[in-house]
Amino acid sequence: MNDRQLLRYSRHILLPEIDISGQEALLKAHVLIIGAGGLGSPAALYLAASGIGKLTICDGDIVDLTNLQRQIAHPSSAVGLLKAHSARTTLSGLNPDINIVACSEYAKEAHLQQLVAESDAVIDASDNFETRHNINKACVENQKPLISGAAVRFEAQVCVFDLRSEHSPCYHCLYPLDGETEDMPCAIMGVFSPLVGIIGSIQAAETIKTLLKIGETLNGRLQLLNGLTMNWRTIKLKKDPYCSICQHK
Ligand SMILES: [Zn+2]
Repeated sequence: MNDRQLLRYSRHILLPEIDISGQEALLKAHVLIIGAGGLGSPAALYLAASGIGKLTICDGDIVDLTNLQRQIAHPSSAVGLLKAHSARTTLSGLNPDINIVACSEYAKEAHLQQLVAESDAVIDASDNFETRHNINKACVENQKPLISGAAVRFEAQVCVFDLRSEHSPCYHCLYPLDGETEDMPCAIMGVFSPLVGIIGSIQAAETIKTLLKIGETLNGRLQLLNGLTMNWRTIKLKKDPYCSICQHK
């Protein structure tokens, strides 16, 4: 690190759990963020500010006026622009030292596999079950940690699936594809703006902890938040021995 970086990241370096070696590890890390919306915005902002060396932001959507109530990576001037490009502009302004790659498409199959294989951790900030299952499958196959979040109305959840370990449950263990998994898009259901900020920030925190292997992550621990009461519930997850996605890993 140069002198400016030592200053920029000094409040992280002061933390014994991070220190210079941890900050250097963050500067070498590559995090893939799928979705530059309500969850992806705060997650990406905190990871960029924290000095994650490379961030790849994947989103095929265009910024819409109705997004601005909660998708804080996008300014009013970005309405009509691709979310991935708008997020890259915002994040580069925040931290010009890091490499931000904008992927302006919904990554699928081979491309998703490649993006996941190249990353050190994956944030699922998407908004539909099909994408969530595709991301999970790619993370299982490439043994990458998956930091998953979701929010709709006043209800939210966050969990880590640290698939570097063969004993870790996966997203499919929690939500088998044949179960009741109906998408509840924000466009129909509505969503409480600060709720996605809370969950996206936790996803950023859990990503850093997972990369640095510090503290106790939310691996196998589903946290459910009711935004109206601010009550949290914890559900311990177990690997499903019959899970069709991760059973042979
Ligand atoms: Zn599984």
